[in-house]
Amino acid sequence: MSAKLKYALVTGAARGIGKAIAIKLAADGYHVLINYRSNDAEAEKTKAVIVEQGGNATLMKFDVSDRTEVTTMLGGWLEQHQDDAVIEVLINNAGIRNDKLLLWMEPKDWDGVMDVNLTGFYNVTKAIINQMLLNRYGRIISVVSLSGLKGVAGQMNYSAAKAGVIGATKALAQEVGKRGITVNAVAPGYIKTDMTQDIDEQELKAQIPANRFGDSEEVAELVSFLASKKASYISAEVISINGGLYS
Ligand code: NAP
Repeated sequence: MSAKLKYALVTGAARGIGKAIAIKLAADGYHVLINYRSNDAEAEKTKAVIVEQGGNATLMKFDVSDRTEVTTMLGGWLEQHQDDAVIEVLINNAGIRNDKLLLWMEPKDWDGVMDVNLTGFYNVTKAIINQMLLNRYGRIISVVSLSGLKGVAGQMNYSAAKAGVIGATKALAQEVGKRGITVNAVAPGYIKTDMTQDIDEQELKAQIPANRFGDSEEVAELVSFLASKKASYISAEVISINGGLYS
């Protein structure tokens, strides 16, 4: 039997940080599964960059917060490819923010952010963990946030969801460490993406020792290292990448 193809699944990889991670992991040699929720055109662009670089990528559209979609799309793919593919790397990157003070935060504002950022982690990680355990190797890396470490006013929902993923990361690392699986999180500060386009870099950069927002590619470099064999003794960690912004 020929060796199984090694895949990396990156959630929310049509744009921003996820896109940069997908491109980097493809350059590292992984076949990349590009997950996204709705933006077909941007997802195609991510794939085109990877293919142009000589890499391999497959689009996998599903909403990480929708358990039925995750089971159908990701579960279905895993079943279909159980003899020829293995997901070695999972990057839980899909995320949204919906900032409001608690005073104005409606149940839907709380639920929406928790569903994507925290329950999405559960849905996707749960779907791949059995295969990773059987394979006795894996890298699970989640993109959290400075907000999940320090808490940010106006982001109670987002801070709670990201802090939840940090707790889940530390717990899961202890469950699966013996099987060669590491589980870590990266916590960016301000990174230039669509998510932060409403935030004024000129106004905020003075608070950041690096005196600028970060680039998605800088986050992708860190994720690439954690996803590599070189990082085999790093687990249950949250690594900040924020230009020195005090957390
Ligand atoms: P972005 O530019 O808004 O891109 C978000 C990506 O996630 C898009 O590809 C989007 O898909 C996808 N997505 C959103 N909801 C999804 C869902 N329910 N299911 C599947 N995919 C979904 O965001 P970003 O700035 O790159 O952020 C990426 C991650 O980094 C997030 O977890 C965010 O919280 C975290 N983060 C960002 C910053 C920052 O400064 N940018 C800082 C700290 C942490 P579509 O393209 O189809 O809409």
